[in-house]
Amino acid sequence: MSARILDGKELATRVRARITDDVARLRAEHDVVPGLAAVLVGSDPASQVYVGMKHRACEAAGMVSRQIELAEDTSQEDLERVVSELNDDEEIDGILVQLPLPDHLDPQPVQELISLDKDVDALNPYTAGRLAVGDPTFFSCTPYGVLEILADAEIDTAGAEVVIVGRSNLVGRPLSNMLTLKGRDATVTVAHSRTRDLAAVCRRADVLVAAAGSAGLVTADMVREGATVIDVGTNRTDEGKLIGDVDFDGVAEVAGAITPVPGGVGPMTVTMLLQNTLEAARVRRGLPRR
Ligand code: NAD
Repeated sequence: MSARILDGKELATRVRARITDDVARLRAEHDVVPGLAAVLVGSDPASQVYVGMKHRACEAAGMVSRQIELAEDTSQEDLERVVSELNDDEEIDGILVQLPLPDHLDPQPVQELISLDKDVDALNPYTAGRLAVGDPTFFSCTPYGVLEILADAEIDTAGAEVVIVGRSNLVGRPLSNMLTLKGRDATVTVAHSRTRDLAAVCRRADVLVAAAGSAGLVTADMVREGATVIDVGTNRTDEGKLIGDVDFDGVAEVAGAITPVPGGVGPMTVTMLLQNTLEAARVRRGLPRR
């Protein structure tokens, strides 16, 4: 193996320590404790695990964490009422509604309802639009984590060819908008399931981000020698093992740097949710974002 391993777990530990210090300072200097509310509808086991992780991370950082668990058969109206109440709740700075929602619920009106100054998951279409026009408020947590990993590894995106595999509103699309912001200045290609000759497109990349949700999609022959490879994918094997979208062992022979799964992007996603909640608490009190 020749690639440098970009250790997201270690970076997450460092960033969370800094956030914990910032939270303590905010409390001491302004008597403000950032608060996050997570709304979970139903009992999807994976969603329960994710909400539990966010809750523990929040408490460990010294923030208020409120978990709101609603029954599987909750109506659209009741869910929207809960979100509206959180919008008006002074103790709460960030609101997230865990996805996926049960089939009878429509996530779009719920996301549109979340107060723009509490939209720490950045899924309100207005928040996404602000980023798209180059005037962002909150960054989506997973792409934000990818940016932090690149910055910490001192991988400069200015003028770089970045190829993102995946065009979802959660990962690929916001990441492409973040990387083309002034100051980041990447040349971005967004590939997806209809892309012709994905391998050739990927080989152009100085930085290749795999966010397709397809185990082993990116193989060594698709990676330029020395490229940075960021694996956002999380897939379960039949044995229950967590693997990414990248054939790690093969690609690590060719790449210059690579994130593992687990221990790469995943730990940074929750970390950036804490960062967004801290920023929301500051901005709501008229304090500078960082
Ligand atoms: P999604 O299903 O909404 O989008 C997947 C995208 O990949 C689509 O745009 C699709 O066109 C593209 N795609 C799928 N198969 C492809 C193929 N064979 N070739 C080219 N493009 C292909 O998924 P998502 O929500 O964006 O998540 C993507 C992956 O990232 C999933 O594995 C998800 O679990 C993971 N994820 C991880 C984190 C984390 O914190 N680590 C956070 C969010 C998502």
